[in-house]
Amino acid sequence: MERKAIGIDLGTSYSCVGVWQNDRVEIIANDQGNRTTPSYVAFTDTERLIGDAAKNQAAMNPRNTVFDAKRLIGRGFHAPSVQRDMKLWPFKVIPGPGCKPMIVVKHKGVEKQFSAEEISSMVLMKMKEIAEAYLGHSVKNAVVTVPACFNDLQRQATKDAGAISGLNVLRIINEPTAAAIAYGLDKKESRSGEQNVLIFDLGGGTFDVSLLTIEEGIFEVKATAGDTHLGGEDFDNRLVNHFLAEFKRKHKKDISGNPRALRRLRTSCERAKRTLSSTTQTTIEIDSLFEGIDFYTKITRARFEELNTDLFRKCTERVEKCLRDSKIEKSHVHEVVLVGGSTRVLRVQQLLQDFFNGKELCKSINPDEAVAYGAAVQAAILSGDGNEKVQDLLVLDVTPLSLGIKTAGDIKTVLIPRNTKIPAKKELIFSTCSDNQPRVLIQVYKRQGARTEYNDLLGKLEFTGIPPAPKGVPQINVCFDIDANGILNVSAEDRTAGVKNKITITNFKGRLSKDEIERMVQEAEKYKAEDGEVKKKVDAKNSLENYVYNMRNTVTDEKFAEKLNPAGMQKIEKAIDETIKWLERNQLAEVDEFADKQEELEGLCNPIIAKMYQGAASDVSMGGGAEMPNGGYGKPSSGGSGAGPNIEEVD
Ligand code: ADP
Ligand code: MG
Repeated sequence: MERKAIGIDLGTSYSCVGVWQNDRVEIIANDQGNRTTPSYVAFTDTERLIGDAAKNQAAMNPRNTVFDAKRLIGRGFHAPSVQRDMKLWPFKVIPGPGCKPMIVVKHKGVEKQFSAEEISSMVLMKMKEIAEAYLGHSVKNAVVTVPACFNDLQRQATKDAGAISGLNVLRIINEPTAAAIAYGLDKKESRSGEQNVLIFDLGGGTFDVSLLTIEEGIFEVKATAGDTHLGGEDFDNRLVNHFLAEFKRKHKKDISGNPRALRRLRTSCERAKRTLSSTTQTTIEIDSLFEGIDFYTKITRARFEELNTDLFRKCTERVEKCLRDSKIEKSHVHEVVLVGGSTRVLRVQQLLQDFFNGKELCKSINPDEAVAYGAAVQAAILSGDGNEKVQDLLVLDVTPLSLGIKTAGDIKTVLIPRNTKIPAKKELIFSTCSDNQPRVLIQVYKRQGARTEYNDLLGKLEFTGIPPAPKGVPQINVCFDIDANGILNVSAEDRTAGVKNKITITNFKGRLSKDEIERMVQEAEKYKAEDGEVKKKVDAKNSLENYVYNMRNTVTDEKFAEKLNPAGMQKIEKAIDETIKWLERNQLAEVDEFADKQEELEGLCNPIIAKMYQGAASDVSMGGGAEMPNGGYGKPSSGGSGAGPNIEEVD
């Protein structure tokens, strides 16, 4: 059978999955019918929740509801951004081995630690399952996107998350590149030569602007700018503060100290914000928000825009900066692409269009789906699927960082300058600095901008076993190899001695080892199996609940009740009562117990109802009254009929 490869936009706040099918990209809705899924994972006393289910219970379970894993992935615990973000998170993060940040949660009453890779792998697994449910077969291969500014460690960690989730990551591509692919900007034939494309990505909590140049299928990130803490959630916050003040004015009460009320207000605010992208006015209606007070109010789009003026202005400033850094004038930008759910805000679109002197913006693809769309196109190409239009497209990216090494004498050498097209390979020969030196220590550094120092150590490579020789004689060939995912492999080889003694760096700081990944893959499978168990339990419980409550509705229906003989009626009513009581006491029962209970109840009710049903069928005057209410729950089921134990035996 044909196996499709999928494209996944693993977002900070929302993720999205697409697949190439019937000559086009399909964005796949999740089990809730939503085309984007919150990047949330929650742990409770009984189960693990991912996506909408996790986000929906966040207010009740803040300490064990994890989000923003993308802000942690591939970073060290002591990184300034991690230290800043930690102050805002309701969940706990501690330094683990190698200063890797570990998220601490309580799952089924036991304290557990998870790396960002594991949390992200759970979100990826959810996206994989969404695709599998839609395609009807298992999915293995995927293209996953990352922000253009992600460094090697962050890319590698994202790839590791894919492996843990059971996916084979065909390629990691840049989010702006994916969005440009979605619009087919790499294939515009009308324009010859280089095209400048500005990608404006305003999401839930982050803002990324990238200037890409595209020429003959090669994507080059000329510059990136943005704000790591600017997005839709900030707009929500402005609304929350606005309504907090209003509540205070109207009711002389401050609800800011009540987390539950705040969370309910925030949820309503986000909904209102989304509504204002299509209407000019909307309402907030929250029953019993605080101390029994209902909060009903209105907000106009104009007011919403005014509350966010400065944030919107900030966006334009960052666009200016990105253009400055890339040394491209705005009149030389060929296309401006809208990406991210928050670019649905009309004022944001307007300001951007005004900035580009009225230029038409690329917005025909849903902004929160454009990245997954492009990833799906790329997945189809890499797996040999898709039509010919798509086949000839080859995505090439460039490295956004300069990579170099620092040798013993503190000498820094750039091997791969930033903006080098990838895949790339660079080699350089080094030697020893003293006689009979047996080892060299090669330290790999990265440099983000053009002016910054090489202060970020990516990893160390120790090359030992150099045969005794005078200084300067051994020739150690150091090779930097960046693959198409932007992931770096460093190796060294001693050429003088003719020893093909090649070593590949594996001890990247904070990188998961092969063993660790293997262990996590197994744990992920265990969790998945547990999720399946929980689901079976919930299904069994729901089935019993459905049956019992439908039966109660059935027998309390007057038209129905009068046809039933009083003894049978009493028996059924008693059994229903007892079962409801049992359910209340046994919410956490096992699948078998729920199933047994249901069989018992069916065994008792169905024959009585069937008898009445037969009687009714021969009675012409019954007419419609003989029909079973509630979708035929009372019809005898094959399994239970007649065989059930007597009601007295129930509990
Ligand atoms: P991410 O930051 O994870 O890439 P998205 O690009 O999906 O996430 O953006 C999510 C943000 O988009 C959320 O803050 C959400 O409220 C916002 N959003 C979604 N739809 C709309 C809409 N119709 N109007 C305004 N904002 C929206
Ligand atoms: Mg995004």
